Amino acid sequence: MMESNMLEISIGIYIAIGILLVSIGPVAENISKEIDRARGTPLSNAFMERDQPSERKLLLARITITIGFILLWIVFIWGILKDHWNIKVTRQRVKERSKGLWFSYMGGHGTVSCKGCDHTEDVTSFIHGTNSSSSGFQCQGCGKFASIRSGGPGKANEYEDSLVCKCGGSLERKKVLFCPQCKSEDLSYRTLYIT
Ligand SMILES: [Zn+2]
Ligand SMILES: [Zn+2]
Repeated sequence: MMESNMLEISIGIYIAIGILLVSIGPVAENISKEIDRARGTPLSNAFMERDQPSERKLLLARITITIGFILLWIVFIWGILKDHWNIKVTRQRVKERSKGLWFSYMGGHGTVSCKGCDHTEDVTSFIHGTNSSSSGFQCQGCGKFASIRSGGPGKANEYEDSLVCKCGGSLERKKVLFCPQCKSEDLSYRTLYIT
């Protein structure tokens, strides 16, 4: 008697968690996305030469997925949470990348201006010569900008100077730029010329 009670309670709790999961957060989002995908857009439906599924069918699909999830949530939950987490991390990275200046997104030679302290400085991001090119670097220690020549075709990553600044800091090209004076990353860039 006692044991069957425990089993019923466990099943009750399990299903309650399932119902909670399908009503809120990432799982609810996921189910809605699945249904949207099944519905398709006029364009994707035209492309696949199919009619949009009827709303009745979609409702049936939603009910099936929901019940399936409530019964089997323990199987799906980790995958859904992992996807959710990955999307969050990617969004965060895109956001971080879109803030601040990066040599890889700056063309040619131009002026960097700091919005924090009004410091401005001419900086080379990347320019081509006839037999060589010059790439911009920034010392991660003192913030000094450097333009370093490298070899011609096939030798673009062979730099003529050492990538160590006079202060001992390392010269980096794949880091967000910061103001040499106040260290602010709130900078703007205006291209003067591109070669
Ligand atoms: Zn500054
Ligand atoms: Zn330095």
